[in-house]
Amino acid sequence: MKPKLPDLMKSAPVLGDGGYLIELERRGYVESGSRRGKVGTGRGSGQFTPEVVIEHPEALRELHREFLRAGSQVLQALTFFGTREKLGRAGYGEQTAAINAAAVRLAREVAADRALIAGSVSRTQLVEREGMGALDKAREHLAEQIRLLQEAGVDFLILETFFHLAEMKVALQCAAAAGLPAVATMSFRPLVTQCSDGHSPAECAKVMADLGAVAVGANCEQDPVRMLPLLREMRTAVATPLAAQPAAFHTTDQCHSFTRLPQFPDELETIQVSRQVFADFGRVARREGIGYVGGCCGCNAAYIRALADGLAEEKL
Ligand SMILES: [Zn+2]
Repeated sequence: MKPKLPDLMKSAPVLGDGGYLIELERRGYVESGSRRGKVGTGRGSGQFTPEVVIEHPEALRELHREFLRAGSQVLQALTFFGTREKLGRAGYGEQTAAINAAAVRLAREVAADRALIAGSVSRTQLVEREGMGALDKAREHLAEQIRLLQEAGVDFLILETFFHLAEMKVALQCAAAAGLPAVATMSFRPLVTQCSDGHSPAECAKVMADLGAVAVGANCEQDPVRMLPLLREMRTAVATPLAAQPAAFHTTDQCHSFTRLPQFPDELETIQVSRQVFADFGRVARREGIGYVGGCCGCNAAYIRALADGLAEEKL
């Protein structure tokens, strides 16, 4: 029988994988939306959606293989932005079930019994567009996607890149209803001091842990150095394992989120962080007992190898 994530995290940090959509956009298989309208505002159409799963499965399979070779103990099915709401805006709403099922199947084919399979679930973007009144609609979409992932047989969920704690709470309730363990990570922007509906990292951690998340933390938007203080703040609030999937892009003291910088998405190469920063983060993660460590946007397999090296060095 496969080990369970909470058991794995007890003995050592679990090494996750990296960021799929930015890497596949760089390889020419994912649409950034930059040619279609203003991105990063929630008003663009089709950007960074996972139709590559059914349109170019071989490209995705290859990236899964690279992460597995780099040492990832978990492969995330590429179901990020895979709600019917978001896929519908990109013209793939009718393929929602097919995309979610195929993503899990692909990841499982590559992993065989060498890695756990996580279903990735992110915000619907309805709250950014329509405000808190859209939470009920968001709940329907999140519940549908989580049900699809449960039916496809994921081992657990990674609820990630949520900007509003209110929407994260809904996602955690849907995960519990489906009987799936969930890692829950918020993304903080424009500053690491609070999420979009005004809660501090410590408050977010407490609420996510109280709702049953098996690990709580942050992903995306900041590089490891910028993210570390907010993780430490979360540590003061909960005993639950921490999860961190930093991005590999520099931010500024005025703006702690790379998706709010003018370099997003077409000049990200100019703010790329070196993989060495991730090796250093691996050492810190082990020393500070972070339970789940991976990478988000900008992290290809080289970054996951560096993280693996850092984790291993600290063990010696
Ligand atoms: Zn990201």
